[in-house]
Amino acid sequence: MSAVRMDGKALSAKVRSSILAETEQLKQQGITPGLAVIIVGNDPASEIYVRNKEKACAECGFYSEKYALPAETSQDELLGLIDQLNHSPQISGILCQLPVPDHISEQAVINAIDPKKDVDAFHPVNVGKIMVGNFDFVPCTPAGVMELIDEYQIDPKGKECVVVGRSNIVGKPMSMLLLHRHGTVTMCHSRTQHLDEVCRRADILVAAVGKAGFITPDMVKDGAVVIDVGINRNAAGKVCGDVDPAVMEKASFMTPVPGGAGPMTITMLMKNTLKAAKLQHGLL
Ligand code: NDP
Repeated sequence: MSAVRMDGKALSAKVRSSILAETEQLKQQGITPGLAVIIVGNDPASEIYVRNKEKACAECGFYSEKYALPAETSQDELLGLIDQLNHSPQISGILCQLPVPDHISEQAVINAIDPKKDVDAFHPVNVGKIMVGNFDFVPCTPAGVMELIDEYQIDPKGKECVVVGRSNIVGKPMSMLLLHRHGTVTMCHSRTQHLDEVCRRADILVAAVGKAGFITPDMVKDGAVVIDVGINRNAAGKVCGDVDPAVMEKASFMTPVPGGAGPMTITMLMKNTLKAAKLQHGLL
């Protein structure tokens, strides 16, 4: 048996076209969702992400502003720009591409963004809201995973869900979202003992580790749903996930890399930006 491939590219296109349709309607009421993207320095991977975010904005009919700041930008200058954007009526959402250079505190940047414009959902106010289950914005990668499992009618309710990875941007919020949907959630990390046994319990296994091919077929229960969040490069420089592709033969559903969870992330950023615009105009 080979798993059903969960097609994040196709779902992403579908969601973006529904966002565009909604944006066209909002524009008739004089509202255009606007996203400001800030990048400090010239990390090549960050530059690609920022370019893709600008492209997605255009696809969804959004207004966008990009601020490419030199690596020497001071923290005060950056916080000054964020403050200006917090007050800009054209801007519904603000995103500062991480990582920032070492002389700038990442947490200070996150804290400076108005929680109502925090479309990455990294601000402690939004993190807290996710914890209590009453949230406006969800971090984009876990939100994309939930959209994918819904599309394939996979219900986490009562299921053993194992999330490998406990980062603030993926593992922790992913676990909370599965918990809110009544999954029985186990969160694993580098100190977890008997990881292979824990993973084998999973009906839904999410890998967010950052190590190519880390999840091998012997760690997966027959018929499990396997979500691969990892974006790594193998020795040949090819993009690959955290899950060994051979797991396809054991899983019932699985996200490929590339083309699974990855494409959903920026689309969920667009969804959060649309939502921010609606919230700021009292439409929700
Ligand atoms: P982090 O490096 O922040 O977190 C990795 C997590 O994996 C940590 O919690 C770490 O544990 C855990 N881990 C590392 N080694 C092991 C091990 N041997 N056994 C068990 N757990 C382990 O990464 P991110 O969460 O930011 O990203 C994870 C992956 O997802 C990366 O490949 C990244 O590129 C990708 N990614 C993809 C996105 C997308 O758009 N699809 C967006 C964001 C990330 P500990 O906490 O103990 O150190």
